[in-house]
Amino acid sequence: MRIGVIAIQGDVSEHVEALERTLAGRGQVADIVTIRHKGIVPGCDALVLPGGESTTLGKLLIREGIAGEIQDIKNAGKPIMGTCAGLILLAKRGDEQVARTHQHLLGLMDTRVNRNAFGRQRESFETELGLPFLDTPYNAVFIRAPGIVDAGKDVTVLARIDDMIVAAEQGNVLALAFHPELTPDPRIHQYFLDKLS
Ligand code: GLN
Repeated sequence: MRIGVIAIQGDVSEHVEALERTLAGRGQVADIVTIRHKGIVPGCDALVLPGGESTTLGKLLIREGIAGEIQDIKNAGKPIMGTCAGLILLAKRGDEQVARTHQHLLGLMDTRVNRNAFGRQRESFETELGLPFLDTPYNAVFIRAPGIVDAGKDVTVLARIDDMIVAAEQGNVLALAFHPELTPDPRIHQYFLDKLS
């Protein structure tokens, strides 16, 4: 089993460590590979798109020829998890900032995002979030977080804060506005790895 973490920019090592911890806790072994170039994604059974700066990430994913490979992973039904900037990249549509800057989105989910949904009011915060696949709330860390403003009928909304969707999934693709790699609670990575078994 091979899990890829897109490592062009952003909080890559935190995701790698969270995956390693979670796998060890389950007694599972997997290769975790960091991806900066074309050619590695096709050999992966699951992919993580970490947080970072979505404009830079999108641009480099195209330039390096990785964007199309990620699309193939989605089409093959393999699990993909995007966190924070990853949630932005997974979307089909963005806000006027995305349009104005001609930002490239991967369009793997039928969602429209607000890049800085929580940015201005509350730069970063933590909150107890209820998620349908967990028995007790999850302490979610939000950092200049985006949100999903609209979602199509094939998207399952997993959590909201006020009117903003902060966790959602569509088929094999999971999008989170927060950073599960920054807290010791392994339950989100567990949920993601469950999709592999
Ligand atoms: N809001 C940021 C962006 O537009 C994402 C923030 C994050 O990943 N921590 O790229």
